[in-house]
Amino acid sequence: MLSSCVRLVSLKFHPPRSLVSRKFQAFQFLVSSPSRPFMDLKALVSSLNDFASLSLAENWDNVGLLVEPSPPHTVKTLLLTNDLTEEVMEEALQKKADLILSYHPPIFRPLKRITWKTWKERLVIRALENRIGIYSPHTAYDALPQGVNNWLAKGLGGCTSLPIHPSKAPSYPTIGTHRVEFNINDTPSMDKFMSAVKEIPEVSITTFSARNDGEEQIRVSLNCTQKALLQVVAFLSENSRLYQKTEILSLEKPLLLNTGMGRSCTLDESVSLATMIERIKGHLKLPHVRLALGAGKTLESKVRVVALCAGAGSSVLQGVEADLYLTGEMSHHDVLDAAAQGINVILCDHSNTERGFLSELQDTLAVHLENKVNIILSETDRDPLQVV
Ligand SMILES: [Zn+2]
Repeated sequence: MLSSCVRLVSLKFHPPRSLVSRKFQAFQFLVSSPSRPFMDLKALVSSLNDFASLSLAENWDNVGLLVEPSPPHTVKTLLLTNDLTEEVMEEALQKKADLILSYHPPIFRPLKRITWKTWKERLVIRALENRIGIYSPHTAYDALPQGVNNWLAKGLGGCTSLPIHPSKAPSYPTIGTHRVEFNINDTPSMDKFMSAVKEIPEVSITTFSARNDGEEQIRVSLNCTQKALLQVVAFLSENSRLYQKTEILSLEKPLLLNTGMGRSCTLDESVSLATMIERIKGHLKLPHVRLALGAGKTLESKVRVVALCAGAGSSVLQGVEADLYLTGEMSHHDVLDAAAQGINVILCDHSNTERGFLSELQDTLAVHLENKVNIILSETDRDPLQVV
């Protein structure tokens, strides 16, 4: 059908061979993929940032769009991987991926040159030469309520889980980062203050009546930025006899209770350590995990509270009360510390506690991106360590 149509065109118009070839290619594209979805990279990145705000990532992290081919860049195929190794890059080329979402950022330390010498540099070269973008969400996905740590917690059985370190909301609930409160004796002093601050941008003021030593006063509450704070305090200092009981408060961003690093999981019903080990192996599809028994514990000891952290959990888990720590890797001395406190430790190797999340992500991202992009999972991505 396709070839006869092309022949018809060719017979009717007798166009040059090169034109037939181009028409054929265009026609083939229309027939084989009549509405093949795609997204412009900018729109896709914006949508990914909506899915997980990069403000949730840790300060030390390097997240977001790390490699960008020159615009416009159309993304039809998005490859998900835990680690972007050279093997995974080869797979991305074969599968014609236009964007790689690598959970771990393949560029972390600054690169001073882009040569063929080291594998990280080669990744950047191959990505740009083949017009493949690289995006990394890393700790932003750790923090998400539907993120990596929540996925890890699903292997424990029925439980209630809360972040060990809750994230803070990306913005302040009110204008400014600071609040200044003070009392004013009379209306002229209030007017003097109002005329002084009206020149200062980003200030919001509320007033209410207050009593000081039986005397009626006006209590002023002023929210402002850190920059405006200096101007406000300078004015108050210059006129200190007019303004009393001054307090300066640093405002905190509100905590997001279901978002953050690590999870403390309280099981609905406690189980033996042996049962928990089997559950974890099943969830992570691992034949082996490494166990450090807590002091005085056996495989029959009950587990009720599990503190977990995907990847390298030492810093997040340190000092957390639990029957069991579950993570990818911890230093020898941190394992000794935990075990001495009677806490069992299960280590699964770093990326084994992360990679399984990508299957869930494939489905949730497909919905979030309204199936406009073909999302595929890397088949070559794996933990570099294996038990032999
Ligand atoms: Zn990791």
